[in-house]
Amino acid sequence: MEEKVYQFDLLKAQNAKLLKSERIYRIICESSDYGYIYQNLGSDEVLTFGSFEKMFGLRLHSTSDFYEFTEKLNAEDRNMVLDTLFCEEKEKRFSSCECRSLDDHSWFRIVTRIEDSELAGCECDKIITIVNITREKAQNSELLYMAYYDTTTGIYNRNYFVSLLTGMLQNAEKDGCKVSLLMIDIDDFKKINDVRGIIIGDELLQQIGSYLKGLMVKDKLICCHINNDIFCVAIYDPSGAYSVENFYKGLRERFDEPFVMSTGVEIRTTASVGVAEYPDSGSSALDLINCADIVVYKCKKNGKNNLQYFKAPILDDFLRNVDIENKLKAAVFENNFVMHFQPQYYSCNRQLRGFEALIRWKDDTGKMIPPSVFIPIAEKNGLIVSIGHFVVEESLRQYKKWSSFYGKNFKMSINISALQYKRDDFVESVMELIEQYDIDPSGIELEITESILIDDFDVVTEKLTRIRNFGVSISLDDFGTGYSSLSYLKKFPIDTLKVDKSFIDTLLDDASTRIITESILSMSHAMGFETVAEGVENERQFNYLASAGCDVIQGFYLGKPLSPDKVDDLLSDL
Ligand code: C2E
Ligand code: MG
Ligand code: MG
Repeated sequence: MEEKVYQFDLLKAQNAKLLKSERIYRIICESSDYGYIYQNLGSDEVLTFGSFEKMFGLRLHSTSDFYEFTEKLNAEDRNMVLDTLFCEEKEKRFSSCECRSLDDHSWFRIVTRIEDSELAGCECDKIITIVNITREKAQNSELLYMAYYDTTTGIYNRNYFVSLLTGMLQNAEKDGCKVSLLMIDIDDFKKINDVRGIIIGDELLQQIGSYLKGLMVKDKLICCHINNDIFCVAIYDPSGAYSVENFYKGLRERFDEPFVMSTGVEIRTTASVGVAEYPDSGSSALDLINCADIVVYKCKKNGKNNLQYFKAPILDDFLRNVDIENKLKAAVFENNFVMHFQPQYYSCNRQLRGFEALIRWKDDTGKMIPPSVFIPIAEKNGLIVSIGHFVVEESLRQYKKWSSFYGKNFKMSINISALQYKRDDFVESVMELIEQYDIDPSGIELEITESILIDDFDVVTEKLTRIRNFGVSISLDDFGTGYSSLSYLKKFPIDTLKVDKSFIDTLLDDASTRIITESILSMSHAMGFETVAEGVENERQFNYLASAGCDVIQGFYLGKPLSPDKVDDLLSDL
């Protein structure tokens, strides 16, 4: 009796244990995001667990229900899914497929797994797991998209374009045909971005991108967004139906119309296009892109809104500049510059007014490279900042030496490049150096050009005012070559205006130049500016300018730029 009671208690305990573990498994299973189908391979009966019912709105009871289940799926995927569900090949153990829901909005992965039964003599168990993989699929297609397309414009990205262009070049090599690579750079895009904001800037790029997308013809005309405001187009068409000329004509027509933004704002812009062709300009995709890039830069320099083909001399020019650029870097490092000083004289009495400091670069072969060659390169690559610092310091050092030694009153005019001027610390660094050399600031004049005046008005004037309040005067160099609006000038705090050499050159032969020069001189005086004429080469020019009221004359007629030794001679003779 006692034995029976004991066995009953044992059974009860085992049952409770079983119930407990069954409950745990059920909770885990039911809270799973997966759907499960269980089938014992010896029978037809199936059971569904987990999220299966939630996913498909039905339960399965036998293998014949598999057909009903597949009706919840995309018709194209049904046979594949049935093969997976009915898979009973034990040696395979795993079988899987991916399928779409009936409405195509969701993706599922179905995995069939066959497990050996733990109980001897029993058939194996089949477990089918169904996972919703919609998000994973979306991420994959997003990654795939990102691998081929540019996210801003929706057209091909650079990498994919390069691989398509490489394919085109291989075909062109076989067929003995040409491939044209066009690089399109939107003119003044930075200004659009700055003035209208980057959202509008991006929308403009999108619109240009969709215009280009509309022109694409598989294997013949392909487009991509390289970066920023640069697009590339490759044309390969042995039949000649698609040509650079036709493309450019269409592009000009499109750009003649404004681009209308979603806000209603209309943007008018132009584009500079550089063309490099296989096989003349290069044999690889990257060669062509590089050559087109060089020629686009040239287009921009030639006034933008045009198209230019790459030609060999452009490359020579470019390589020469690269060579100069490399040598210039070394020159900055080794400080291979010297300053020369060109005298300026008052026209009324031919007394010395001062000197303009002009930089000279002696390259490693001893050749003197003129500033007109290297200053633009230094401005482009930023070296002008170090060069400019040298110019200011060396000119101040010489000025201090000469003014203390000879006890004479004269001015030192120092050329300042726009990039140098734009630096936040520019004004402070000049004031510090002037103080460091213990110089009277009224002896120093900074020559700026109009290129800085059309930048941010407030920042420019604030800096000019600070420099002038410190006692340094400001001269506007090369007047007449740039913006040249006298009414605009009224707003800027400057002291002196230098009439550009190009006026002086034609002054005596051309009546209209005379009229312009005279009106510049009289209006400058009316506004209180001192006037300087530069590039005066002969007595006739001198006499004419003196009688027209130009205050100061600078030029080869009265004195060429001098080395420091020669300045010593000049000052000691005074
Ligand atoms: P700029 O500031 O207008 O300087 C006047 C240029 O005209 C100088 O050329 C000078 O040598 C030249 N010149 C003066 N009188 C005559 C003349 O009668 N006939 C002829 N044919 N030329 C004359 P340079 O020294 O070759 O300088 C050219 C330009 O390079 C300068 O034009 C200036 O824009 C820039 N530059 C020169 N030195 C510096 C510098 O230290 N810093 C910066 N940022 N730019 C400089
Ligand atoms: Mg100058
Ligand atoms: Mg000048």
